[in-house]
Amino acid sequence: MMDERPVVVLGAGINGAALARELALSGVPVAVVDADDVACGATAWSTRLIHGGLRYLEYGEIGLVRESLAERDRLVRLAPHLVAPLPFYVPLRGRLGGLPAAAARLVGLEGLARRWRPARGRGTWTVGTGLALYDLLASDSRAPRHRTVRAGAAGLPRVDREAFAWGCIYSDAQLLYPERFTVELLVDARRAAAETGAACDVFTHCRAALLPGGVLRLTGTVDQAVVDLRPAALVNATGAWVDRTLAAVFSSGAADAGGRRLIGGTKGSHLLLRAPRLRAALAEHGVYAEAADGRPVFVLPFGPELVLVGTTDIPFTGDPATARADDAEIDYLLAAAARLFPDVAPGRDELQQHYCGVRPLPAARALGGSPAAVTRRHMLVRHAEAPLPAWSIVGGKLTTCRSLAETAAKEVLAALGRPVLGSSRERPLPGACAGESRLEALRETESLVRQGEGWGVDPAAVAERMVAVFGGRAAAAAAGIATRPGGIRGSVLPRAAVEFCVREEWARTLGDVVERRLMLAFDTGLGRDTLTDVAAVLAELGLVSRTDVGREAEACTRQLAARYGRRLAQGPGHGPEEEP
Ligand SMILES: Cc1cc2nc3c(=O)[nH]c(=O)nc-3n(C[C@H](O)[C@H](O)[C@H](O)COP(=O)(O)OP(=O)(O)OC[C@H]3O[C@@H](n4cnc5c(N)ncnc54)[C@H](O)[C@@H]3O)c2cc1C
Repeated sequence: MMDERPVVVLGAGINGAALARELALSGVPVAVVDADDVACGATAWSTRLIHGGLRYLEYGEIGLVRESLAERDRLVRLAPHLVAPLPFYVPLRGRLGGLPAAAARLVGLEGLARRWRPARGRGTWTVGTGLALYDLLASDSRAPRHRTVRAGAAGLPRVDREAFAWGCIYSDAQLLYPERFTVELLVDARRAAAETGAACDVFTHCRAALLPGGVLRLTGTVDQAVVDLRPAALVNATGAWVDRTLAAVFSSGAADAGGRRLIGGTKGSHLLLRAPRLRAALAEHGVYAEAADGRPVFVLPFGPELVLVGTTDIPFTGDPATARADDAEIDYLLAAAARLFPDVAPGRDELQQHYCGVRPLPAARALGGSPAAVTRRHMLVRHAEAPLPAWSIVGGKLTTCRSLAETAAKEVLAALGRPVLGSSRERPLPGACAGESRLEALRETESLVRQGEGWGVDPAAVAERMVAVFGGRAAAAAAGIATRPGGIRGSVLPRAAVEFCVREEWARTLGDVVERRLMLAFDTGLGRDTLTDVAAVLAELGLVSRTDVGREAEACTRQLAARYGRRLAQGPGHGPEEEP
């Protein structure tokens, strides 16, 4: 008889969610447990690119780049509502720079590579060679091949032409909302489980501890509810928290043989700028360049209004939840953008918010002392001394979440003596829509909005935003408009969408809805009224006491200020936000 005890996946980031889906596809019961919410770690604090990782070529990570490029194309196909191709522009000063340094790096001489760093940055030959290899490794891809161009041609980003006379153009992709992608992985895990007859449960906001006798006790941090699970196996997919989780869950401390440290994280900060002139200068390209110190920086379009600038790479040993962008990082990133776009240099007054995350990198000593040189490849570490089959996932990227899950599931299933029965290779995410199916989702959602009472917002704009957030599930998310009419102030979204996130997507707190379901935390119109409206729906659903709506909104306002440096105005029409 099959063992029907679940495989417990600790951590509902992109990797934990992808693994749960993969296991459910093979008919294995699975329980996903997160100490906080779905996608509230590095998944949400990333640069949000689905990319091959051009610069990893210099470190000889050919296999990683090939895998990432294949996954990039797959995700564009299987999740077109969330993963969109994006052309990239690399501004360059000259032709020859960087060849010796790149060669040194390729043979592992990082120290020498840094000594030989070209004062004028990499040139067209170095970058062009890398991009030719990038194209070769993606030879099955439909993405356009790279080309070298003179700066200043129409349709290119308007970088400083005097300083950067040349440029290379290549293709990668952007995942604007990895939070939504992760939620959909879990929605699909639940679907897969229903198809295969297995159970798939998701527990958020709870602490896990392994008790003697193999019971994993979950204690709710919001409601103090206690649930006991009896796992067949445990996978620690808690990203930068991996070592802390081992210490917290296994009473004996780190369950790794020898108790060695697995993670050596670095923090990376990003800025979200409301800088219309810089946004226009990007001309719908991402710009990938070197900062003054030679580090890579991205200046990216973030929806139609905002610009995302990232990132830094600084060793970090504290609790990943406490990592914040500091003043020096904000100045550094503003200076990096200004160096590229001096005519439209962004100022602090254009900073809408910032965010910071910790990369779950393996605790290898950085080559030549450079955090950038630590491998981005993932590893599955088996804990031979644990009282049950247990592994930790170390490293990984958004881009490779599916292939990582495939490899990890194979190993877990083999250890449990179960076959691999399903595959995610050609399985679209639940909200996948493009072309005609996207138009259909828009039409259906708009028609639902028109049938409702309305709240002074153009139904077409509501449908557009709902499809941007929920993809092909937009109409289902809007279906409650008839019974829960009205909109959320400061956004175009309907109040009914909050209920959908609670009922279908495991949202439990105001922060869950605002930051990781409806993506309101990034809306330019976000105000305190927005938070009050969402909290009021949560109160109607019994998740917040009716008398606590104001207090909840206030607490969330403080959280947004602390985490993102975002200070909210009283609400739309109440004047500009205070400066971050
Ligand atoms: C600055 C930065 C930029 C990046 N940019 C990119 C990029 O552009 N493209 C790309 O492909 N990759 C990028 N990455 C890498 C990518 O974001 C991460 O590798 C990936 O998100 C890791 O996902 P995860 O699920 O392993 O971890 P996380 O997303 O960190 O999830 C871990 C989860 O574990 C939970 N947790 C913690 N402790 C416990 C516990 N004791 N019990 C249960 N749950 C717990 C947390 O609440 C969290 O939800 C970037 C990373 C950073 C930090």
